[in-house]
Amino acid sequence: MDQLIAIIGDIHSNLEALNVVLDDAKTLGVTNYICVGDIVGYNARPNECCDIIRNLGCVTVCGNHDHYTAANTEDSNDFHPLAAKVIEWTRQQISPENLDWLRKLPYSAIIRGITVVHSTLDGPEHWGYVFEAVEAEPSFAYQHTQLCFHGHTHVPAIFEMHAGLVNRYDPVDFRLVLGHKYFVNVGSVGQPRDGDPRASYCIYNPIQHTIHFRRLPYDLAKAQQQILDAGLPRHLADRLAAGT
Ligand code: ZN
Repeated sequence: MDQLIAIIGDIHSNLEALNVVLDDAKTLGVTNYICVGDIVGYNARPNECCDIIRNLGCVTVCGNHDHYTAANTEDSNDFHPLAAKVIEWTRQQISPENLDWLRKLPYSAIIRGITVVHSTLDGPEHWGYVFEAVEAEPSFAYQHTQLCFHGHTHVPAIFEMHAGLVNRYDPVDFRLVLGHKYFVNVGSVGQPRDGDPRASYCIYNPIQHTIHFRRLPYDLAKAQQQILDAGLPRHLADRLAAGT
């Protein structure tokens, strides 16, 4: 039987979206998971989301929000003030066990011949953003597997390197071509930013070498209400609905 792998990330404490994604993956026969990081930040259910990912026992790398939430001594000056405010709030909410787990997450990992990173492989701790093909080029120099999954921009995309050239493609289902390398952004479960508010993730079939992108509606109003009830900025609830 094919061992389907769901690759999820940028969950950002959105429990409603995470539950819908995991239910969908299970229904489709997924038995393995990989998490590209940013479990916390922006939304209002950090502990529940950490508990779920920890219980999956899957390979999970550190995102910038995870990193700055766990780094109590470090300030979050690099962040937009709204994001920094949620990081402060998350630090107050998060359990010692989850904080400890976040603190120990690696910047990158290789599992079953697949590389996993939150931002880029050329400087995982610098949190660079890859929107265009030219921005993916330096990462490919450090990618020693055919396939790497990442997140961080909250925009699903495919970056393909062949014969020294990098191309970017919008997310479409595809089969890996031998000799080509792929740096695949799985999009965001909990705060998509490509104008589509539905939760995003990918399924990889390691036998067929195929990648399948998924988009799922979830109870957005409930996630928004949780943000407001927690006293977090209203703008974060509004942008969920806009997918920005
Ligand atoms: Zn993120």
